[in-house]
Amino acid sequence: MSAQIIDGKALAATVQSECATRAQTLRARGLTPSLAVVIVGEDPASQVYVRNKIRACEAAGIISTHHCLAADTSEGELLRVIEDLNRAAPVHGILVQLPLPKHINSHKVLEAIAPEKDVDGFHRENAGLLAQGNPRLVPCTPAGVMRMLASIGVSPWAQHAVIVGASNIVGKPMALLLLRAGATVTICNSKTRDLAHHTRQADILVAAVGKPKYLNGEMVKPGAVVIDVGINRGSDGKLVGDVDFESARTVAAHITPVPGGVGPMTIAMLLSNTLDAAAATLGDSSGAQRS
Ligand code: NAP
Repeated sequence: MSAQIIDGKALAATVQSECATRAQTLRARGLTPSLAVVIVGEDPASQVYVRNKIRACEAAGIISTHHCLAADTSEGELLRVIEDLNRAAPVHGILVQLPLPKHINSHKVLEAIAPEKDVDGFHRENAGLLAQGNPRLVPCTPAGVMRMLASIGVSPWAQHAVIVGASNIVGKPMALLLLRAGATVTICNSKTRDLAHHTRQADILVAAVGKPKYLNGEMVKPGAVVIDVGINRGSDGKLVGDVDFESARTVAAHITPVPGGVGPMTIAMLLSNTLDAAAATLGDSSGAQRS
């Protein structure tokens, strides 16, 4: 068997074009959607991510403002910037690019973002709503994965989903979205014994470990859907996922590549969340992410 490759780049382009249409509709109603991106320091990878996010916003007709702070900015100064953005009515979404410098408490900063502007979906209020099965702003990467599954006509209903990785950013919200969609969910972490025993039972296998090629074809159930969230840079500078693509593709029915899989969807869902946050200021939740 050779798996069908899920083209995240093409799907992200579709989502971005839908976002452009939604942004146009909001502008026609007198509302210009806007995202504020805050970055502290000059981490080169973060600079690239931020540039890509800003470009995607511009292409979709979402105004983006870029708040670039020096690496030695104090936690207090950063919190003041966030407070100003919380109060600024024309700003609908606030994104603080991670990682932050070590002297800043990331948790405190993310909790300072007004929950209704928290387009990354990391604030405890949004995490709590998701945990209760009533999501508002959902973390972009898992939201993108749900959209990918829908795009290939795979419903999680009554499927066994196994997620390798339990972070607050990817693994946990992924599990909650799949659970809400009717899947039976297993979450694995670094303490899990006999990982392959679990992964081989997965109809839907999501890898979010942060270890290059950690899952191979022998760990995949024949006919499974394999979603590789991992982004790791190899010694040759190339990006590789958490899944050994070549061996897994001979066993799976569908698989995402790295690059060109989940990564582009994360940015597309950020635009979607920003539009949801903007629409909510008009009392409109019709376009909100509810998958
Ligand atoms: P993270 O915070 O480091 O979490 C990694 C998770 O993997 C933890 O829950 C950890 O378990 C678990 N883990 C580590 N070793 C394991 C093992 N041997 N067996 C089973 N589980 C193990 O990472 P993250 O932020 O979730 O990111 C995961 C990956 O996704 C990274 O490669 C990251 O770059 C990528 N990522 C991609 C996107 C995208 O847009 N595509 C977005 C975000 C992240 P414990 O809880 O026990 O420590």
